[in-house]
Amino acid sequence: MQPSIVTFIETILDAEAARQHHPSTQWHATDCNALPDVLNPGIETGSCTCGVPAQVLAEIQSRRALLDEHGDVNDGECGTCVDGHWGYPTHGGSSPQRYPCRSLRLLALPYASHEAYLDEWQPPTRR
Ligand SMILES: [Zn+2]
Ligand SMILES: [Zn+2]
Repeated sequence: MQPSIVTFIETILDAEAARQHHPSTQWHATDCNALPDVLNPGIETGSCTCGVPAQVLAEIQSRRALLDEHGDVNDGECGTCVDGHWGYPTHGGSSPQRYPCRSLRLLALPYASHEAYLDEWQPPTRR
């Protein structure tokens, strides 16, 4: 079975969060004290002074909150988004966006080259 767009994004966020929690896979600025000093390999590494892993984790937390806000499906429509000018068909006046809504599609878009990404998740072009 194909993963839902929510499962797809959750899986990626879980992997990114795990990477930022592990000392050997965290991202740091090149001058961060947490990185080993190649010129002085005997010196112990210190605490993170660049803040990059914490920043990435905060961004992941924010994206999780957005997922949560847009993951509710009501009869095939997003429980949060009302159609505006996003290019989805409207039924006259404002109507809920079809699921997955543009917000979910945009959250998944940075991973469009991932093997599990489905082309049908591409956000529609704005009119
Ligand atoms: Zn750092
Ligand atoms: Zn939505």
